[in-house]
Amino acid sequence: MEVNSIENGIVIDHIRAGFGMKVLQYLDVDTGRDTVALIMNAQSSKHGRKDIIKIENLIDVDMTALGLLDCGATVNIIEGGRLTRKVKLELPEKVVDVIKCKNPRCVTSTEPSIAHIFRLVDPSTEEYRCEYCDEIVRV
Ligand SMILES: [Zn+2]
Repeated sequence: MEVNSIENGIVIDHIRAGFGMKVLQYLDVDTGRDTVALIMNAQSSKHGRKDIIKIENLIDVDMTALGLLDCGATVNIIEGGRLTRKVKLELPEKVVDVIKCKNPRCVTSTEPSIAHIFRLVDPSTEEYRCEYCDEIVRV
């Protein structure tokens, strides 16, 4: 599949195969305005199959939340037809208001104004611990 390279925008590469649609939904791109290409099941030298997303015009991407969604992906930022930044996504150390604590007795469940704060326990198991009640959540 041939997709024209973009002048300005972002390319999210090495997305786990089958995950591209989820990432796209999360990014909340306006498909009526932005030029978006989702390439599914592309051949990858590293992982066999992968999804790729290309979005024309630079949008503000929340790398923290994106890292939670797919920590193996890479975000390429392209300006003036050239790659200006390459960001390898990773699991963030601390996440605020992305994961919600499921413990009904947790203070975040009873007090809606309190931020849901989680800290990474173990990157290999993708486990996070609630800052308030120590509840473990896997992402
Ligand atoms: Zn909690």
